[in-house]
Amino acid sequence: MNKYIASVLADVKAKNADQPEFLQAVEEVLTTLAPVIEANPAYQANAILERIVEPERTIIFRVPWIDDKGIVRVNRGYRVQFNSAIGPYKGGLRFDPSVNLSVLKFLGFEQIFKNSLTTLPMGGGKGGSDFNPKVSPHTPGKRCSDREVMRFCQSFMTELFRHIGADTDVPAGDMNVGGREIGYLFGQYRKIANEFTGVLTGKGLSFGGSLVRPEATGYGDVYFAANMLAMRGDTLEGKRCVVSGSGNVATYAAEKLMQLGAKVLTLSDRSGAIYAKDGITPKMLKDVMRLKTVTRGELADFAKKTKAVKFFKGANSWQLADKVDCAFPCARQNELNGKDAAYLLKHGCVLVGEGANMPSTPDAIAAFAKAKIMFSPGKASNAGGVATSGLEMSQNSERLSWTAEEVDTKLKGIMKAIHDNAWNAAEKYGHKGDYVMGANIAGFTKVADAMLAQGI
Ligand code: NDP
Repeated sequence: MNKYIASVLADVKAKNADQPEFLQAVEEVLTTLAPVIEANPAYQANAILERIVEPERTIIFRVPWIDDKGIVRVNRGYRVQFNSAIGPYKGGLRFDPSVNLSVLKFLGFEQIFKNSLTTLPMGGGKGGSDFNPKVSPHTPGKRCSDREVMRFCQSFMTELFRHIGADTDVPAGDMNVGGREIGYLFGQYRKIANEFTGVLTGKGLSFGGSLVRPEATGYGDVYFAANMLAMRGDTLEGKRCVVSGSGNVATYAAEKLMQLGAKVLTLSDRSGAIYAKDGITPKMLKDVMRLKTVTRGELADFAKKTKAVKFFKGANSWQLADKVDCAFPCARQNELNGKDAAYLLKHGCVLVGEGANMPSTPDAIAAFAKAKIMFSPGKASNAGGVATSGLEMSQNSERLSWTAEEVDTKLKGIMKAIHDNAWNAAEKYGHKGDYVMGANIAGFTKVADAMLAQGI
């Protein structure tokens, strides 16, 4: 390994030994940068790697709120403002009990390169809380009520508001933070800051949201896959696809796959996975979307009412179908491991398009690379969400709303540009077809050059 990279990695490991997800993300990026580091000695001379692995600022705060029984609850809130060399910090908020500094630093670090790849002026950040809206603190088997989620969001924003702003830091949604939560967060920001600005993205259409933002990450993931297939003169028509998750990214990826003529065989959630031998139908998908965003239930309940799907309790999506062409991991980090990768490869998989952040473990990525299949890392193929957030910021600044067609056309163009940037960077440095290397190099170079230009 390149000596400079090895020494920075050793230092990051020593300083952050208790942050496994962050270390995994840093290692994945840094180990692909040798060609660009060797070609540009100024990066080492100006300690670009040492600086890029350290957040510019990390804020940790108390979030007290009152549940429906009048009991005071306390959660921990975070915002990691990782890098603002090319624009205001931008990245989602995640509410999940698994949220900790390691998870948010990994997500914030990935976000720097993802945002750079979109071609839009956005820096990298991420935030959230260990708050779990899916488990009531007082009634077993129930979720938090809407009012509890609202009070939590208001308390969270009461501290966060002083650290963000339309030109400083513009958070968005992520796991368990959708339209409902963004609405409550924006409402509280507007009240206490006494201004109506595009300080959050993923807003409702009646208060500054953009058409196609909810669809953008899933659609973008599929557009990226279509671009990879086009390089081989192929399309998604008739492809047998396995998708994981059943949240925002997964359901819109499934919708776009169906629109482009592919068959979606699986979806999953915390309760397990559903498998439809002949493909999930658009009607079933609409029912799953309703289940997840309106009635807020589990796939286990859905499967009881839907004869055409089989339910596998506690399973993920990877080892259910006997013939697979493409896989789209769209749920969470490290959800597809080496064994899953071996199964997928053995059953015909030629393309993996990551919709989630870091869903494939390092041994799974190594197996895909060895098999030389088309593999797109999340930072490239799920960048459509943040890119459309960037378009929402532009519309807010202009006080305009673009049509769905305008936004979708721009999204398609951005996904093609990201694909081509990653492809060209990999080819330039002698690794043709390696989208992991291409995305890391293309994303890194723009930020590193901006950091160089702006001094230490
Ligand atoms: P959602 O909360 O809408 O959906 C997440 C899905 O993953 C749900 O189906 C959830 O199941 C499932 N899931 C979560 N944890 C587990 C677990 N431990 N075991 C099994 N299933 C689990 O989130 P999003 O769709 O927004 O995000 C999914 C991924 O995409 C994340 O990695 C996120 O960072 C990434 N991403 C999201 C973007 C966006 O625009 N939303 C943009 C770019 C990346 P259940 O329904 O049971 O909770």
